[in-house]
Amino acid sequence: MKLLIVEDEMPIQTALCKGFSKIGYTVDAASDGEEAVELFYSNIYALVVLDLNLPKLDGMEVLKQIRAESKKVPIIILSARSTVDDKVAGLDDGANDYLAKPFQFKELEARVRALLRRNFKTSNTVVEIEDVKLDTATRSFFVAGDEISLTRKEYAIIEYLILRRGEAISPSSLIEHIWESDSEDVFNSLKVHLSTLRKKLPADFIKNKRGQGYYVE
Ligand code: CA
Repeated sequence: MKLLIVEDEMPIQTALCKGFSKIGYTVDAASDGEEAVELFYSNIYALVVLDLNLPKLDGMEVLKQIRAESKKVPIIILSARSTVDDKVAGLDDGANDYLAKPFQFKELEARVRALLRRNFKTSNTVVEIEDVKLDTATRSFFVAGDEISLTRKEYAIIEYLILRRGEAISPSSLIEHIWESDSEDVFNSLKVHLSTLRKKLPADFIKNKRGQGYYVE
């Protein structure tokens, strides 16, 4: 799943990008408010982490513009502005959660996970489909009780298909949700990852609806 991190303090931005990439998310980062809005308009994000004190365009304005474009995308504000009034203003303007700086990455990650769960067809961290079990809290994956080691991309693909089970997901939609916006030759890369992933799964677990895309039943 692809996250947009909006943060102008480079050490924090770098730490957030590294932290979220390490646990398997795809991450785009913006260093000012205008860049954040531009990235949001041209990509599909599963969630936005938004700082408020930003150059060029204030975070509250970014929040309003993102909300005008999408009612659904979860937004979590991460800010040094930490009075109750700040929090109320952020939540009133459409943020889903508010975490004051300084913060622990672990807490941010848990809140991101909780927000993402609300948007999918399950409120559990563990999803089981026949022999297959996905644990989104530990990002682990099991087939017939055995843990299967997946690459980050393979995990991202199967997690997305399982959380959207029953829906056919087109290759371009998978790519938009999983790949960084500037990566090249993404269609080929998707094919390669799907093929290695399928070898690790029960036969025919990932199905293909002609002309529409991939799905899990
Ligand atoms: Ca800032």
